[in-house]
Amino acid sequence: MEYKGKLYGKIGNKYFDTSHTAEDWDKLTSRVKELEQKLQASNTDLLHDVNQRLKRRQLVDRMEQYSEIIEGKCKCGEKVNKVLNSSCTGWKNGDRYHYPNNNTAWCIFRCKNCGDVIHETFTSNNDVG
Ligand SMILES: [Zn+2]
Repeated sequence: MEYKGKLYGKIGNKYFDTSHTAEDWDKLTSRVKELEQKLQASNTDLLHDVNQRLKRRQLVDRMEQYSEIIEGKCKCGEKVNKVLNSSCTGWKNGDRYHYPNNNTAWCIFRCKNCGDVIHETFTSNNDVG
């Protein structure tokens, strides 16, 4: 700012002291710039971190160990695969449910279509009836 010293405000014809100076304004302006740069840098770090995690997640997907994948569906008709003895599941019995064509390391808990718990509604395509 070209001006030095106190900054004043104006209401009608009356001026009042803002209790800030031009130097305060300059400091504030450069502080905002500095914080914006820091924020941008930390966003870049965050994106880098997310990318690294995604790569690791993909590696886990390729390394999943299991005995069998059973194609089937939820009682509502939503197609679901059941992986037996999966190394990538939270279920103690080793079951892992996922949507076909979306074989990430995620486990389905509730069906995205009807909202019911998938391990209660799953039927294999090989089951009769
Ligand atoms: Zn369903």
